[in-house]
Amino acid sequence: MRLFALLLLAALSLPQRAAAAWPERPVTMIVPFAAGGPTDVVARIVGEHMSRTLGQQVVIENVAGAGGTTGITRAAQSAPDGYTIMMGHMGTHGAAPAVYPGLKYDPVKDFAPVGMAAGTPIVIVAKKAFPAKDLAEFVAYARKNGDKLNEGHAGVGSVSFTTCSLLNSVLGIKPTRVVYRGTGPALNDLVSGQIDYMCDQIVNLVPQIQAGTIRAYAVALPARSPALPDVPTTKEGGLPEYQVSAWNAVFAPKGTPREIVTRLNGALLQALADPATRKRLLDLGADLSDTASQSPEGLQKLVESEVARWSKVLKETGAAAPK
Ligand code: ASP
Repeated sequence: MRLFALLLLAALSLPQRAAAAWPERPVTMIVPFAAGGPTDVVARIVGEHMSRTLGQQVVIENVAGAGGTTGITRAAQSAPDGYTIMMGHMGTHGAAPAVYPGLKYDPVKDFAPVGMAAGTPIVIVAKKAFPAKDLAEFVAYARKNGDKLNEGHAGVGSVSFTTCSLLNSVLGIKPTRVVYRGTGPALNDLVSGQIDYMCDQIVNLVPQIQAGTIRAYAVALPARSPALPDVPTTKEGGLPEYQVSAWNAVFAPKGTPREIVTRLNGALLQALADPATRKRLLDLGADLSDTASQSPEGLQKLVESEVARWSKVLKETGAAAPK
């Protein structure tokens, strides 16, 4: 009887001991978009520093498809043992339920939020040869020729999709919407002139804008981004009704031990406090000011408000799936 009780006790404390020993091997961070895009860039910068704090490699695995929901579904269904985490965003954990009625996860209920990695303002960009020198000309040209334009995005429900759904609805246009596995590959096609424009997260764009290989018309924020001081805001450019921004954040599957989530959050916060890591993110235009969402509780609140916000916005723009 005593032996049985001891065995039972040992079995019950197994997950706790596993949590205490964690991490004993590399941690996989699923990026639900193609390599080289904004989610991938943020994940690699933050993951590199987290590896140092955790003493184990944070390995990035790109699982692209369906606007990020393929990778997040896989991550949500993995063992909640701290060895699989993910870099989600405003699309996968905000907009997705409004556009995928059969979504296999609930952003509000199926995750253990870890913390916000980066706020990512949205920039309206176009190919270099686009016949408009500023936002006012872009708006006028798009309103006239909207049906002939090609817009690139990273799949239904992605940030580029949702934020450009909003832009297209403000402009009253219906361009051809070209789908990519992430805005990394979409940006390549913008640079080579295969597509006309995109709405994308700033961290993907700053190097190309600085190199002059694409045109940047406006940042959809009330104030200019310090990383792109020459790019006006939509308000300055005459389109004040287009204000939108996005974010990338780390999540673990629901059921991941609290102790592990706390350590992941600590490693994330250390990455964001590290001057070199911080500088890399800020130079790309990331906004690190939303410290409230850097805690698991704060991120949970953000997800709840984003799901509510996007279900309303996407219904209004006509992009939401009929229920
Ligand atoms: N964040 C996506 C990417 O990394 C793009 C998107 O959501 O628009 O490619």
